[in-house]
Amino acid sequence: MKNQNVVVPDAKQGIDITIAMALSKSLFSPVVPKPLPAAPGGYFTITRKRFTKKTETGGKINSWVDSMRDSSPSRVKSTTPLSETEDKNSWIVNHPSALNMFEQIVNRSKGKQIVMFLDYDGTLSPIVEDPDRAFMTSEMREALRDVARHFPTAIVTGRCRDKVHSFVRLTGLYYAGSHGMDIKGPSKNSCKYKKGYQGVFFQPASEFLPMIDEVYNVMLERTKSIPGAKVENNKFCVSVHFRCVEEKMWAKLVEQVRSILNDYPKLRLTQGRKVLEIRPTIKWDKGKALEFLLESLGYANSTDALPVYIGDDRTDEDAFKVLRNRGQGLGILVSKVPKETNASYSLQEPTEVKDFLRRLVEWKRSSLQGPCRV
Ligand SMILES: [Mg+2]
Repeated sequence: MKNQNVVVPDAKQGIDITIAMALSKSLFSPVVPKPLPAAPGGYFTITRKRFTKKTETGGKINSWVDSMRDSSPSRVKSTTPLSETEDKNSWIVNHPSALNMFEQIVNRSKGKQIVMFLDYDGTLSPIVEDPDRAFMTSEMREALRDVARHFPTAIVTGRCRDKVHSFVRLTGLYYAGSHGMDIKGPSKNSCKYKKGYQGVFFQPASEFLPMIDEVYNVMLERTKSIPGAKVENNKFCVSVHFRCVEEKMWAKLVEQVRSILNDYPKLRLTQGRKVLEIRPTIKWDKGKALEFLLESLGYANSTDALPVYIGDDRTDEDAFKVLRNRGQGLGILVSKVPKETNASYSLQEPTEVKDFLRRLVEWKRSSLQGPCRV
């Protein structure tokens, strides 16, 4: 049996954790395989042997289906039991609204450069049935454009970089597509944040491009029998959207995806919000992209920066975790329902993200004009 790796969301203790490194080219920092901590909302990578035993003999493939169900907030019950209300109240206490805590947040930025990091789907745009139509509103684009005028700003997304650029349509931003595996900074002329800026372009998984193309075509063919499944080639990862797939077909979908991975031991399976994703097994994620971008901006080891990361997805937890571990900056989870997260604050939906961005711009403009008024 091949030593394929499968990433199991929400896996618990008692499994052997290994990380298969397929990266032959050096990254910015050497990566040493080591056990991952059991972080809330994070991922575990387990050997295929253990996973197969766990799933095929125990029927635990349901753990994937359960996880897929958890990522469908539209299934929230109309009548919420009291205990759930209590849970929600305590969650809000621990992850207060970034709008309500706005003053505290900007107070933390005194003497520091705020650096904005934003996920796209579910953060700047609503989650829609057709991922090709996840457009952002003109109001959101305006708010984002204004934020990028005042703060270094990066879009960090699982989407293909070109695709998200076609949605955002703004220059002067950093775009990190394919979960940060495809990073491009603004042109020299449109970057005003760093003296001597010569541009940024970084693709740590470039060797995987042919393999991803191949898997995309196989995946298209194999998922034809599953109504509603939509396969998207995101350049360095293949996304299988299941938001339009009937729940009774989810187990079959997972089986199909896993069967394809049997032939590609250098790829792994992860899950995002209403999407399964096949990615290279390199240790690179949105958290690594955040660190890379901070370094590119000259804030690698600086205490002069306050990174703010806003995202709604499990994959954003990697970035939240980096900020928490660095003891620097803050993570804001976009969610209407309580979730395990490493973020410190919350916003309920993209319209609240827009409101937060607008307030940030207003605060910056007023602080530039005179005495700091929050
Ligand atoms: Mg998202």
